[in-house]
Amino acid sequence: MKITHIEVHAVSVPPVDPPFRWRAGLPGSAEYGPSEGVVLRVGTDEGVDGAAFFSRLGARDVVGHLVERVYRPEYLGKDPLLREWHYDRMWELDRLHEFPLPVFGLIDIALWDLAGRAAGLPVWKLMGGMRESIPAYASTVTFDTTEQFLDVASQCIELGYPAIKLHAWGDAKRDAALCLALREHVGDEMDLMYDGSAGFDLPDAIYLGKALSDANYRWYEEPMREFSVNAYRELARAVDVPLLSAETSDGAYMNSADFIAAGAATFGVRTSAGLRGGMTGAMRTAHLADSFRVRAEVHGGGVTAEHLCMAISNTTYYESLVTSTAVTRESVVDADGLLHAPTEPGIALPPGLAYPEAVRHLARAA
Ligand SMILES: [Mg+2]
Repeated sequence: MKITHIEVHAVSVPPVDPPFRWRAGLPGSAEYGPSEGVVLRVGTDEGVDGAAFFSRLGARDVVGHLVERVYRPEYLGKDPLLREWHYDRMWELDRLHEFPLPVFGLIDIALWDLAGRAAGLPVWKLMGGMRESIPAYASTVTFDTTEQFLDVASQCIELGYPAIKLHAWGDAKRDAALCLALREHVGDEMDLMYDGSAGFDLPDAIYLGKALSDANYRWYEEPMREFSVNAYRELARAVDVPLLSAETSDGAYMNSADFIAAGAATFGVRTSAGLRGGMTGAMRTAHLADSFRVRAEVHGGGVTAEHLCMAISNTTYYESLVTSTAVTRESVVDADGLLHAPTEPGIALPPGLAYPEAVRHLARAA
């Protein structure tokens, strides 16, 4: 089998309604929420094809340039099933191009999708299936008041979610008080997690981490930018709550290794196709973490995350975003709070978007 064409197709992404926000300092969905998306499609001489979806600022320009300048010259005529070779080649090309992290793994995702379609298997099975369902945690956006957060938590429990993760205001004292109030509100048994979205420096991260330790939070995620492994190691020494690190740092599994070896990822590391170099990089990250006996928790929801959650042995939950004070359960999560394994071959493009004719057959039915 040979790659015969590589294409980019524009797709509009409607804004989230109602819009939502993140911690102070970060753009909310209205400013950040992408209105432009692209599908990267890889086709072959045997008629099997595969695709990857991407939607960040400048997506069409970035992926368009990549296809023209990098993917077509490098990959046309090659065997699409040699994913390790392609992955290794991407790191070589990255040395000079310095690809943006979220696009590094796009071709890898498309090649896994293609391989799944060629084999007639969902990719989580092709990667070595681990499970057919997994609990989903409710991952909140940032709401205005403590009362709203507690009310959202009650609704999440009512809807079947077995665990809750907060994205709060990015104010160490206020966030600490909220975390304690939420523990009080839900009782001792429920898994609670906190995600700082890199809003703090070390002193504030320690202050907040002590409250999370007192309230017995399951993990403490990304309180600081992940550029200083040393700062994370100091934090790990200062607080008891286990740290979940290395979500956004560059270098994929190679960088995650340093966080773990430094004792700076005491719960484990984040993994994702988007920020760890495609499905291949995400699985390498998971295997690396497993060898150190820590977890690899999948960052974000969506189709690639669903497959990773079913393929990674050392992972706990699927992340299901709750964006409104009137909580609705994500359609892929059932009333017992479980995500079930995808069944269609490949990965599939996310459902519900107005895809152009040429790639419509690659999307999951809405
Ligand atoms: Mg996070």
